[in-house]
Amino acid sequence: MSLPVRSLPVAQNWDCRGCASCCRNYAIPVSADEQKRIEAQGWDADPGLKDTPFFLADGRGTTLNHRPDGACVFLGDDNRCRIHARFGPAAKPLACRVYPFLLVPAGDHWRVGLRYACPSAAANDGRPLDAHLPEVREYAALLEADQPAVKDRPPTPLRDGTVVPWDDVLRIAGAVAKVLGAADVPLERRWRTVLKLAEIADGLKFDGGGNAKKAVTGGRLSEMFHVLSETADEETPAAAAVPRPGRAARLVFRQVLAVYARKDHGAEKGTAQRSPLGRVAAAVRFARGAGRVPKLHAQLPEVSFQAGEEPFGPLPQESSALLTRYYRLKVQSLQFCGPTNFGVPFWEGVRSLALTFPAVMWLARVFAAGGMPKPAAVELAVRVTDDNFGFNRLLGLGRQKFALRLLAAREELPRLVAWYGQ
Ligand code: SF4
Repeated sequence: MSLPVRSLPVAQNWDCRGCASCCRNYAIPVSADEQKRIEAQGWDADPGLKDTPFFLADGRGTTLNHRPDGACVFLGDDNRCRIHARFGPAAKPLACRVYPFLLVPAGDHWRVGLRYACPSAAANDGRPLDAHLPEVREYAALLEADQPAVKDRPPTPLRDGTVVPWDDVLRIAGAVAKVLGAADVPLERRWRTVLKLAEIADGLKFDGGGNAKKAVTGGRLSEMFHVLSETADEETPAAAAVPRPGRAARLVFRQVLAVYARKDHGAEKGTAQRSPLGRVAAAVRFARGAGRVPKLHAQLPEVSFQAGEEPFGPLPQESSALLTRYYRLKVQSLQFCGPTNFGVPFWEGVRSLALTFPAVMWLARVFAAGGMPKPAAVELAVRVTDDNFGFNRLLGLGRQKFALRLLAAREELPRLVAWYGQ
């Protein structure tokens, strides 16, 4: 019996609009069974695929091959997947079927997230997520058959060595999502309140230090987080009273930005990282933060770093709604911590998600400076950032985790949020 899939208390719509963006931008992993299945489909007799290798293998595994323009070899001239068109959805690799859903095991059920890298998800197009539950349940069962250990996955620690039951992890995530959902408060302030809440709560021992009788759990924990959230709000200063991030912090932030702004695969791959020399030059420019922004992503316009420092102005209402939905979904689905975010504990995951907000706003400033209307600039910035969050292996490296801890320890995260949130 497989784990149930629970819908989340976030109003989110999605339907595939068939844009094939996912078929053009990802290296799709295939298992040995999937490879055998596709090989048995007789594609080598297809005139459109003659003499084309279907798979690429390296030390990390096997992926579907791509054409020189970045599109999957199985993408047809009609912009549709050949495998899907001829044999139905079940004949495709599981990764293609599941996208853009994200399934996160949470004790006795799966939680559903959505990748905003998909244009339809970012635009909130289509039917409510609940309408997709039957197909998502099918994916969950397949994932469970593939990785039976997910059923026994222990709760994500709040911090190293502090573990509370799954239900309490979800209660705390609910408290964070509630602060982020306060639509009448500017989003930059909501994020600074969450960071203050993380600062207060990260020092508390809810697990009773191993003594179950002293543990704060269940309804008491919810009440406690209600009070802590109010305290965090009271202790969050007005944006005007927050100092500008320091020089060193902006340098570290740009190193993180250089990861969030990049695209290394497919049709939107940047031109800056095509050669080793280009990669070095781009890294140097991001370190200096001066001159033209290197084209780490095909969508980045020809603008200078200064464009990323100019205030964006008040967020358009639709952009604020989009970002609110995005962050609530990330938190409620738990995709910001644990195995879906490089194994980071809960509060570190909250901080890493908080850091995406200045990254999104920096990108939105840059896209707007390139001539894009502000709502479109924010939507694209979220898509580009979300493409990397939890997925770009560079973000899981020790030096990126160290950068985040350094910014948190120096109290620079709320400054970056306030500075890029204006
Ligand atoms: S990117 Fe999203 S909308 Fe476009 S084809 Fe893929 S799943 Fe469908």
